[in-house]
Amino acid sequence: ATPTALLAGSLRGSQLGILIRGPQALEEAHRIQVVAMDKTGTITAGRMSVHEIVPADGYERDALLTLAATLESASEHPIARAIVAAATAPLPSLEDFANVPGRGVRATVAGRRAAAGSAAFMTELGLDVPNSLVTAADTAAAEGASVVFVADGDRLAGVVSVADRVAPNAAEAIAAFKGLGLRTVMVTGDNRSAARHVAQQVGIDEVRAEVLPGDKFAVVRELQADGQHVAMIGDGVNDAAALSQADLGIAMGGGTDAAIAASDLTLMRGDLMLAADAVKLSRRTLATIR
Ligand code: ADP
Ligand code: MG
Repeated sequence: ATPTALLAGSLRGSQLGILIRGPQALEEAHRIQVVAMDKTGTITAGRMSVHEIVPADGYERDALLTLAATLESASEHPIARAIVAAATAPLPSLEDFANVPGRGVRATVAGRRAAAGSAAFMTELGLDVPNSLVTAADTAAAEGASVVFVADGDRLAGVVSVADRVAPNAAEAIAAFKGLGLRTVMVTGDNRSAARHVAQQVGIDEVRAEVLPGDKFAVVRELQADGQHVAMIGDGVNDAAALSQADLGIAMGGGTDAAIAASDLTLMRGDLMLAADAVKLSRRTLATIR
């Protein structure tokens, strides 16, 4: 392999908007057989907004939104930002805040224990979700929304769902991966139904949903079975371990520092198409070398 060709490939990459960590990264890109990717912020734009607010019986819509926003005011999650942005009333203060990664948040609000997060989180807290809310949540999830259950004391206050838009080039990028003969897999912490909806919109064949942040790397490892070369594309702190486990970690432009540090390639824009361009570039570069 000529170092000159690899250097030229790296320079071409930076012109395209792809930062390549070293010659090995460019070489690895041409061996990739599977592309795993995160959903939120990778396939979707990562700018969520409130989709629906469904209070439980006897609970006020505004009180539900205020409680949800109060809980989420201490979180940096894109879901949290969307809920806080939707609140109009002044938010009361909160105490004993705790973030439970991949699950949700909990705190004491106005002297009562409160929580916001996934259905699994509610179950873990020993809370019963009324059927009316399960139905509302299922409907929202089938529409591609992420669902947040909100608990006030020992009862459910309601559901707030948030939705994100699929990124402009995501479908085109998935088609490009497939055109390169690559298997595409979505790996997300979000619920199955929302994940499937988004996967269908962009043409991804395989979905691994409800994966806890600490388990994304295990999914990558499983995809690596039989010596498959796996690329992982992500943007979040919760993607970092999976990005470093992958044969080729690719950080999305605008992603977190943790994701960038764990990756071999960094896309300079939040454009998934650049990841397909990187694979094409590596194949061209390595073809020149041989
Ligand atoms: P992703 O893989 O899409 O980046 P995460 O692992 O960050 O997702 O979160 C997975 C799920 O955990 C979310 O879809 C949501 O149900 C729940 N969750 C995580 N953080 C929060 C939060 N701050 N508020 C409510 N729910 C949350
Ligand atoms: Mg993400």
